[in-house]
Amino acid sequence: MCGGSTDADKTFVLPTPSARMADCTYCGCRVEAHDPVYVSESPEGEPTGRFCNYGCLAAHIDAADLTTGTVCEWSPGQ
Ligand SMILES: [Zn+2]
Repeated sequence: MCGGSTDADKTFVLPTPSARMADCTYCGCRVEAHDPVYVSESPEGEPTGRFCNYGCLAAHIDAADLTTGTVCEWSPGQ
């Protein structure tokens, strides 16, 4: 796990629920038509985000600046 995060920062990728109809959190497409990714704040919880695929998840993270202010102890320059 990443160092420095609080419990509230944790996000879990859920196993894909069977036949759950939902719209992509990022683009609004029906996720079940693609390769859906579900995320939640708890490993057993209801999904708080759902995406067509990892591309939409990554785009949503960028668009929402979710990486800003997180504290991963990893230095790309090393
Ligand atoms: Zn999408």
